[in-house]
Amino acid sequence: LFKKLLDLRSCYELSKIRYSDDIPEILKFYSDTPASCQLDKYPKLTEDDYTRFITKKAMKREPADTRQITKLAYKLGKQVISLAEGMPNEEMFPFARLQLSTKTGKDLVLEGSELAAALQYMPSQGYPALLTELRSLQRALHRAPDTHDVLVTNGAQHAIYQCADMLVEPGDPVLLSEYTYTGALSVLRPYDPELILIAEDESGIVPETLESVLESRLMRGLKMPKLLYVVPTGSNPTGLVIPEHRKKQIYELACRYDFLILEDDPYMFFNYTGIRTPSFLSMDVCGRVLRLDSASKAFSAGLRLGWLTAPAPLVARAELHSQAELLHPSTLSQAIILRVLSDRAALAEHAARARDFYLARRDALGEALQVLRGLADWTPPQAGMFYWLRVHGVDDVYDMVFHRALSRGLLLVPGQAFMFDSAQRCSHLRLTFSKLPLHLMAEAALQLRDVILEEHKV
Ligand code: PMP
Repeated sequence: LFKKLLDLRSCYELSKIRYSDDIPEILKFYSDTPASCQLDKYPKLTEDDYTRFITKKAMKREPADTRQITKLAYKLGKQVISLAEGMPNEEMFPFARLQLSTKTGKDLVLEGSELAAALQYMPSQGYPALLTELRSLQRALHRAPDTHDVLVTNGAQHAIYQCADMLVEPGDPVLLSEYTYTGALSVLRPYDPELILIAEDESGIVPETLESVLESRLMRGLKMPKLLYVVPTGSNPTGLVIPEHRKKQIYELACRYDFLILEDDPYMFFNYTGIRTPSFLSMDVCGRVLRLDSASKAFSAGLRLGWLTAPAPLVARAELHSQAELLHPSTLSQAIILRVLSDRAALAEHAARARDFYLARRDALGEALQVLRGLADWTPPQAGMFYWLRVHGVDDVYDMVFHRALSRGLLLVPGQAFMFDSAQRCSHLRLTFSKLPLHLMAEAALQLRDVILEEHKV
C-alpha cells in the first residue's frame, strides 16, 4: 500500500488534469496551428521506448523516500496526521509579509498561508499550484499533449544539464547547429559526445542537410544520434528563427531516424518576424520533444526559474535527479512566477511590451552598426538579443577581442564561444543589444570600427 501511495501517478493524477485553452489574443501568436505533418506512419513512443534513450546513470536513480513523502504530504494535506516530514515550522521564520510592487501598479503580496508555503520545502517536481498553471499554459501555448508533464527547474540552463545527464552517454552522437549556445556546449563537453554539427542558413538548421547526414550515417552503419539540441527562436548567437515548415521537416526526421528534440526556447517572446512560429512541442504527436522554457528573459534572470515540458516518463526521471541534486527550485521564486503567469492578460501585455522594447533596441544598434559597412556583414536578428557579425579580413577574432578591443574598454564575445572546438579560428563576433544604453550604441559601433581597422593594419 505504501508503495502504491508513493506512485507518481497516484500523486498527481496526470490524466485527470483539465487544461484551459482560454488565452488572450496576443498570446495566440505563440500558439499552434494543428500539426499537419503526415506522421501517422510513425509510432508514438511508449513508456518502455524511453528506456533506450535514458543513460545508465539516470536509470540508477531511485526515488528519495523523504521527497516522496513530501509529495504525499502536499497531496493529502489535512487528511493525515503527519509525523513524517522533516520540515521546519514556518511560525519560526522571521517574515510576516512580502510585497513586490510592480511596474503596472498591481502589487504582488504574499502573506498568511501563501507566504508560509512560499517559504517552505516543496515537492521536487515543483510548487503544485505552479505546476497546474504551467500545464495549463503549455497546453494553451503549445498544445502540450496529455502524454507530457512539467518539471520546474533552476532556469533553462539547469534543465539542459539535467537532460544531458539523462540522455547522453560518453561517445553518444548529438546533433547541434554549427554555432550553439555556449552554456549547452559547456554542459555537453564533459560527456564526451560525438558532435554532429549541422549547417544553418538564414532560416536555421537546414533539414535537407540534416537528412543527408542522418542517411549517410545509417548507410555506413554508424551509431545514430539520440538527441538534437536546438534554440528555435532567436538562436544564441545567430539570432535566427526556424520557420514552421522547417520545424515540421525536422520533426518528421526525428520520427524517421528515431531521435529526441531538446527545444530550448528562452527568447520565444522576443520574436520580431511578425510570423507565428509554432513550437516543436506543438507538433509532438509521437512524444519526441523536451521543451525548455525560462523565466529569465522576460521576467527575471535572478529568480533562476525555468520549466521542462516533456513526455511524462522523462519528466519523472528528471524529477529523480532534482530530488537528489537540489530537493527543489526556490519556492519563493515559484510563488512569484505563479502570480506573473496566472494573470494571462497582464502576461500578454508584458510579452508585447518586452518584444517592442527589444525590437527598438535591435533597430537602434542596427542603425549604429552602419559605420561597419564594408568591414563586416550581418543580418538583423529575427529574434532574441544578439547580432552575429562576420568581420572581414580577420580570420580569427580572438586576440582582437581580448587585447585590442578590451584595452580600449570594449567588451565583446568572440565566435569561438559558440563552437564545440573552441581552438578553431573564427571571424564572428556576438554583440548584445539588450542592455547597452541607447546613447552608447553609436560610440560602441565606432569603437568597434576602429578596432577592426587597427586589426587590418597588423
Ligand atoms: N538557453 C539559451 C539559448 C540561453 O541563451 C540561455 C541564457 N543565456 C539559457 C538557456 C539559460 O537560461 P536560464 O537563465 O533560464 O538558465
